[in-house]
Amino acid sequence: MTLKIANHPCFNDASRHKFGRIHLPIAPKCNIQCNYCNRKFDCMNENRPGVTSKILSPQQAMHYLDQAMILSPNIAVVGIAGPGDPFANPNETMETLRLVRAKYPEMLLCVATNGLDLLPYIDELAELQVSHVTITINAIDPEIGSEIYAWVRYNKKMYRDIDAARVLIGNQLEALKRLKEAGVTAKVNSIIIPGINDTHVIEVARKVAELGADILNCMPYYSTTETVFENIPEPSVDMVAEIQKATSEYLPQMKHCSRCRADAVGIIGEINSEEMMQKLAEAAA
Ligand code: SF4
Ligand code: SF4
Repeated sequence: MTLKIANHPCFNDASRHKFGRIHLPIAPKCNIQCNYCNRKFDCMNENRPGVTSKILSPQQAMHYLDQAMILSPNIAVVGIAGPGDPFANPNETMETLRLVRAKYPEMLLCVATNGLDLLPYIDELAELQVSHVTITINAIDPEIGSEIYAWVRYNKKMYRDIDAARVLIGNQLEALKRLKEAGVTAKVNSIIIPGINDTHVIEVARKVAELGADILNCMPYYSTTETVFENIPEPSVDMVAEIQKATSEYLPQMKHCSRCRADAVGIIGEINSEEMMQKLAEAAA
C-alpha cells in the first residue's frame, strides 16, 4: 500500500481545495490545563474554540466516517484532534486508528496532541502508517512554560508550576525526536501569546528544527472568557507575520491553518455542512 502523502490538504497547499479531511471527535479528556483553554470549548491544539463537539465512541466514529465518505468521497485524511487530547484517551484513539486503517487502507491518518503521553504509542502509530503528527509546543523553557500551563497530570501524578512545564516539555521534545526516528511527518504548533512567549517562539523553532520537525505553525492565541489569560489581547497580524518571518529561518511555515474544530469535516476553510452535522448527531445518538 502506498499512501498518497501529497494529498494531505493541511500539509500541501496544492491539495487543500481538492481533498478534504474529517476529524473524529473521540477524545474528550485532557491530561494538562493550558491557561488559554476553556474546557467548555474545543481544544485549541487544532480547533477553533466556541463550538463543542459531539463525542463518539470508536464504533460510532466508524459509522460516521462511512456516512461521510458517501457524502464527501474526496476525504483523504482522518484526523484525531480532541476535543481533549488523543493520548489522554489512548484506548479510544488507538482503537479508532486501527479500525480506520483496516477499513480504509489508503486513508491518510493524522493526529494532533500536546505530546505529554505520546511517546508509548509512537511505534504503533508508525506501524499503522499514521503519516502526520502535530505536537503543540508553546515553550521549551520551563520558566516560560510555567506561565502557560496550570497543571499536568502524568503517570497518575499531578504536577504544577515549573515541575509541570518540565515534565511536559521533556516529553514533547523526546516524542518529537522519536517520531522522526520512526519516519513520521511532524508538525509543531506554537501558539503566540503576547507578553508570555512571543519573544520565545524563535527559540522553540530553533530547538524543534534541531530535533527534525518538518513544519512549524505559529498560531495566534485565541482569547476566550473564563481563562487565566482572558485579559491578554490576541497578537496583532503584524506580530504573527514577524514571528513567522523570523522562525522561517529554521523551518518551513504553515500559514493557511484555519484552526479546525475537533469535528471539522470537508474542505479546509468551509464550514461543516448541515447534512454532515446531522450525520454526526445521528452517529452520537
Ligand atoms: Fe485545552 Fe488542548 Fe490545552 Fe488540553 S491541550 S488544556 S484541550 S488547549
Ligand atoms: Fe491533521 Fe490538523 Fe489537518 Fe486535522 S486540521 S487533518 S489534525 S493537520
